[in-house]
Amino acid sequence: MDEECDYLFKAVLIGDSGVGKTNMLSRFSKDEFRLDSKPTIGVEFAYRNIRVKDKLIKAQIWDTAGQERFRAITSSYYRGALGALLVYDITRRSSYKSVGRWLGELREFGGEDMVVILVGNKCDLGESREVEEEEAKEFAETEGLFFMETSALKNLNVEQVFLQMITKILEITNQRSL
Ligand code: GDP
Repeated sequence: MDEECDYLFKAVLIGDSGVGKTNMLSRFSKDEFRLDSKPTIGVEFAYRNIRVKDKLIKAQIWDTAGQERFRAITSSYYRGALGALLVYDITRRSSYKSVGRWLGELREFGGEDMVVILVGNKCDLGESREVEEEEAKEFAETEGLFFMETSALKNLNVEQVFLQMITKILEITNQRSL
């Protein structure tokens, strides 16, 4: 961890192939884009330093690098992750149907207090919508998840969704250390 950072938070992106995870990550990491990889476990991750509530946080965000296509995500992907963005594509119902399975993995391999945000991406394609916002919102509420729709293409809500996750992680971390 860099000297000047108060915290290092690991978070993961998860969801079916093609929903827009990689594009969300490159939006979030933009200028500071620093992609790295761990070829041994076949993942990629990017860092961004971000200031939240007077704390400088180094967010390390992991991306599946296409492994989800082969259902080859291993428990090491989730290990130590404090947050997750569970992404589906609002124009592809099948990607929404997979959410339950991804949630199962998160709960099996992730930590107890993991902050999970359900993300409906590609909201710029409203005319092809197959998943209503209200339906996903209700599901998120029953599962105790946060929820947001985004467009990685138009850069809508992407910054906000990462920021919400990091802020919640910080709150939980602070509560723990009290
Ligand atoms: P991943 O497999 O989940 O990492 O998905 P990618 O980030 O590779 O994106 C898959 C495809 O969806 C690409 O062709 C992207 O250009 C497209 N895409 C990603 N996000 C959006 C979005 O918000 N809106 C639209 N219209 N297309 C998107």
